[in-house]
This record gives sequence, C-alpha cells and structure tokens, in this order.
Amino acid sequence: RTVYVNGEYLPEHEAKVSVFDRGFLMADGVYEVTSVLGGKLIDFEGHATRLARSLSELQIRKPMEDEALLEIHRELVARNGIEEGLIYLQITRGAPNDRDFMFPPEETEPTVVLFTQSKLGLAESPAAKTGIKVISIPDIRWGRRDIKTVQLLYPSMGKMMAKAAGADDAWMVEHDHVTEGTSNNAYIVKGDTIITRQLSHEILHGITRAAVLRFAREAQMKVEERAFSIEEAKQADEAFITSASTFVMPVVEIDGVSVGRGTPGPVAARLREIYIEESRKAGI
Ligand code: PMP
Repeated sequence: RTVYVNGEYLPEHEAKVSVFDRGFLMADGVYEVTSVLGGKLIDFEGHATRLARSLSELQIRKPMEDEALLEIHRELVARNGIEEGLIYLQITRGAPNDRDFMFPPEETEPTVVLFTQSKLGLAESPAAKTGIKVISIPDIRWGRRDIKTVQLLYPSMGKMMAKAAGADDAWMVEHDHVTEGTSNNAYIVKGDTIITRQLSHEILHGITRAAVLRFAREAQMKVEERAFSIEEAKQADEAFITSASTFVMPVVEIDGVSVGRGTPGPVAARLREIYIEESRKAGI
C-alpha cells in the first residue's frame, strides 16, 4: 500500500511519525473517513467541511486547502487502485521536541497522514441483508463528541463489549437516551416516521446522517430529530445506523430483543438503496 505522510507518498512500511507526536502521546488530533464507490469519493465536501470545523474547534492549524486535500485523496485512490473502500485521514497538532501538556509553538507543523483501505462489498454488504445486533452501554465519553478526535478508546472498548455479548456493535446511552453508536449515528422508525437524535455537542454530526435525512425528506418521508430511549427503540418497527463505512445498516436486535420482525425493515432498505444510488451519481 502507498500511504501519504507529511507531503510524501511512501510504501506503508517506510512511513514514519515521531514518538513525540501529540496524536500518539495525547490523542491530540482529528480524523475523517471518506468512502470510495466505483473509484469515486463520496461526500468529500462534507468531510472536508467537518474536518475544518474539528481543527478550528481545537485550534489546530489547517495544513492545506480543501483542493490540495482532494488531490491527495484522489492520488491515493489511483495509486492503490481503490474501486470500493475507505480513505482514512488524520491530522494531529504535530510533534514538538518533547512531551508537554502546553500546546507547542505556532510554527510546529501539524502531522498529516492518509491511507486507503480496500473493502470490496461495501455496497453489496452481506450484513445489510441480515442486519446487525447491538447492545446498549453507558456513554462515558467526553462532552465534545461533535469534534471528530482520535480519542477512540471507549468506542473501541464498546465494540469489544458488543463482541463479548455476541453482538456486532453498541449504542451508547446517557440520561436514559441513546446518543449514538460507537462509530455511527442511531435511528429508529415508528410507523412512517424516522427518528434520530438532534445535533448537539453530545453526538458527532454524521456526514452520512446529513445526506440520508436530506434524501428521506426529498422522498416525502417523515423525519423527527429528537432523543429516544432504549425502551422506545426496542418497541420500534425498525432500527438502523449510518456512517461512511456502513452507509445505512439495519439493526435487528437491541440487548437481545428483536426489533420489529427481527429482520431488516423496508425503510432502512429503501434509504440504503437511495443513499448508494445517489452517492454513486454525486461521487467525485
Ligand atoms: N458517530 C460517531 C461516534 C462516529 O465515529 C461516526 C463515524 N466516524 C459517525 C457517528 C458517523 O459519521 P459519518 O456518517 O460522517 O461517517
């Protein structure tokens, strides 16, 4: 694999980052994951906009313009022959000469790393046909989940807890309401209404979420942006998640209780179809 690090395209084993990198020592960095369908980038503009916001909220210097970022994405897709898969991008506050809690001097260059992950079957996913199972866990993350930081220890632990319980993923709960999935936004469907938590500092503002809600509204489907509990979710007709790496993925079981008939529902299936079709058309 050819990866990008600080201005260079290198074979993955030759790419190096300093031991003093703030991302490594303090999780002082942000990231984005953009999907690739048919060799094209999906929702690139949305990801670039959210990245700029994450950087700005943390006062990390934006290392390059969106146009230059797009060029690197495209170059990596081409060099690695990615037809279907993901591009991971990470920007950290850089590597000063020592460990220090204080932010490093202005002139410290942010560290920029990008790599591709080839994943055939992103669109024709077998999991989308069966649906996934989730468990609920308390949301004990920090209070600025709208910033896409690389602090992924708890989400990682959440996925391990899910696996230990025989499930695929976890939905996090705070003050009796679902915030989001470990790496995705959470939805339920009751009757003809799609329900998903409103945007705030408590959740990541999913780029897939924005696109899916837009498509749902364009298709005259009803959307309610509000918090819901695990109890309400268990009694819903359908449940699903969205993210750049799963698109729209049906959830068929929550804490061992079947949702609806325990099979993927029509609303999730339709939204998945629309999202993939429209994304293929709009990809760049
Ligand atoms: N919430 C969390 C906590 C996430 O990590 C992600 C994916 N990175 C999402 C939601 C979904 O965001 P997106 O649709 O932009 O991939």
